[in-house]
Amino acid sequence: MAKAPDLSRLRNIGVVAHVDAGKTTLTERLLYYAGASHKIGEVHDGQAHMDYLAEEQAHGITITAAVTHLPWQGHTLQLIDTPGHVDFTIEVERSMRVLDGCVVVLDGVRGVEPQTETVWRQRTRFGLPALFFVNKMDRPGADFAKALASIRERLGAEPAPVTVPLEEGEVVHLIERKLLQFAGEQGERVIAAPCPDLLWEQVRPLRESLLLAVADADDALAELVLADLEPTPGQVWQALRQLTLAGRVFPCFGGSALRNRGVQPLLDAVVALLPAPAERLGLFARLPEQGREEVLPDPAGPLAALAFKVQLWEGRRHVFARIYRGHLKPGDKVAIPQPEGPPKEEQVARLFEVDAGKKSRIDDAWPGQIVLLAGLRWAATGDTLCSPEHPLLLERIDAREPVLALAVEAASSDQEEKLCEVLDKLQQEDPTLRLEEDLETGQRLLRGMGELHLQIVCERLQREFQLSVRTGRPRVALRETLAGEAVVEFLFDREVELERKLIPMKARIKVALRPRGRGEGNRVLADPQILPVGAGLSENQMQLLLQTADSLLRSGPKEGAPMQDTEMEILEVELFGAASTPLALQSALVRATQKAMAQAGALLLRPIMAVEVVTPEENLGMVLGDLQARQAVIEYTEAHGEQRTIRCRAALDRLLGYATDLRGMTHGHGQFNMQFQQFDVG
Ligand code: GDP
Repeated sequence: MAKAPDLSRLRNIGVVAHVDAGKTTLTERLLYYAGASHKIGEVHDGQAHMDYLAEEQAHGITITAAVTHLPWQGHTLQLIDTPGHVDFTIEVERSMRVLDGCVVVLDGVRGVEPQTETVWRQRTRFGLPALFFVNKMDRPGADFAKALASIRERLGAEPAPVTVPLEEGEVVHLIERKLLQFAGEQGERVIAAPCPDLLWEQVRPLRESLLLAVADADDALAELVLADLEPTPGQVWQALRQLTLAGRVFPCFGGSALRNRGVQPLLDAVVALLPAPAERLGLFARLPEQGREEVLPDPAGPLAALAFKVQLWEGRRHVFARIYRGHLKPGDKVAIPQPEGPPKEEQVARLFEVDAGKKSRIDDAWPGQIVLLAGLRWAATGDTLCSPEHPLLLERIDAREPVLALAVEAASSDQEEKLCEVLDKLQQEDPTLRLEEDLETGQRLLRGMGELHLQIVCERLQREFQLSVRTGRPRVALRETLAGEAVVEFLFDREVELERKLIPMKARIKVALRPRGRGEGNRVLADPQILPVGAGLSENQMQLLLQTADSLLRSGPKEGAPMQDTEMEILEVELFGAASTPLALQSALVRATQKAMAQAGALLLRPIMAVEVVTPEENLGMVLGDLQARQAVIEYTEAHGEQRTIRCRAALDRLLGYATDLRGMTHGHGQFNMQFQQFDVG
């Protein structure tokens, strides 16, 4: 067997940010300085290396998480680019799940922004150690100390400044006591000189807050700091690393990605402060029978890997996976445990290492690596891949509710078949995309997370697959629930003609329908002990009734939308010997339920979104007025520099087209993001 590579020299990291903070610009620098790319691609030219999908270049945003490798100081950084737009949060969450650490980019003028809070919550969920890069320090109004304060106030996290950006584009390194300059056309040459005393005095408050933050690591260090003695750089690095890995302190760096300032010290810190795969412990898997086991990154152990993304590559299905334990090679059989039933088994045909849009074949994959697998037909996002001899289940990645739908059809009828095939494939790639048929109109509906999400899918159809499509107006997903309770009894008693014979059919059923609390889900109750009046109900008859009940809850009386938070209890069933055929039982239940729904009354539930709008102060009045006209419930408004942040709740159907309207009201300066909260009366 091949030998496992040295895992201590691997760092799996991601860069996350609020949209426009400069994540893509920073990533381009990371690649360039590490020698992984030969020139710096700029976002505004549509040239960024990681944004390889045509749509990303056209929109100037990052949509698909791409993996790339960069060598730095004898280490390999495995970088996963993550999208900043909230329509693609699933991508952020998927990559967070397989990372060991992340760099959070802040805009030096704006500090922590609403989406920074969103990604921070995801980071917290996976307990990821993180570094901050306070970017855009070249912009007027940028304020490093204020950005650090926003980390403490808005994220409740302890910032520890490591480099301080100066107005001239230099940075002071607070651990090394050095002044760093970035020379050369692309800032590629770092010139380090001892920090002049005067300057050192100026940055003293930040140096003190760094020392106070690390003093927490151990008593010896705390004593030094309290006695006003200088710990050595080595002591500070060590303490900072320990606290960073524990998620207690978050080292902060400042600079300007666009002006090529301050990026290399961040790369150094990724190596020095973020964990190698083996240092990220505490991953547990469920075993089929006997509880849980901790998955340690042991190359000789049974395989444990997580499929975190399915992607079409040259038209073929490929699966991105992170290996946690064991060794994988081409030809290996893997088991994919299913929530119910026996595990599926598949064979891995080929393994690849991925660098943005390129893939290269490899012969082995080891714990800590992120690889692309070919040949798997079933493995889907969130699936665990494991050894057939040692089945286990890693925590699944949540898929979100796709709340917006668009009717799509091919512009010419001869492309219909191809459209179906392509949409089917795209759906496999992206668990937040769903293809459905509208049962009433027969239209094909594409469901997704938001307008931008669906727009991008339609553009991909055109660009990548040369398919022109016609789309309808976006429609929001709906649910129904009961307004009240009802108990109804129905006797089905008829002669039904079957194969030219009249057959008597008879059954009586009594049901109760009741609303449940919001978010409690549907429930069907039927107690086999008390149900039958007269003859006993067979196992098959019981199953038939339960299945029928489930399917009745799939469409409500108002719009045919799925019911939610509804309880249905089958109170009584009366059988009449041979006349109580399956059809008689089903019909009695259907009619009793329909009557009960009509009596109880139904309410329509709409997707309610938690919305955050950031607007320049001068447009606040107009933006608030417009939100009120959309019947948004304003929760609060707060000042944030010269910006105002509005938090509110609103029904998704009243927010269609909002991105464009907000841009109009704020001359392009407003931003917003929204997240599905729940279906509710809105
Ligand atoms: P992302 O959405 O977070 O990936 O942000 P981008 O990297 O696309 O950057 C958004 C905009 O900010 C682009 O126009 C960049 O050129 C600009 N930008 C990025 N970094 C800096 C910086 O350090 N200083 C200034 N002034 N602008 C920057």
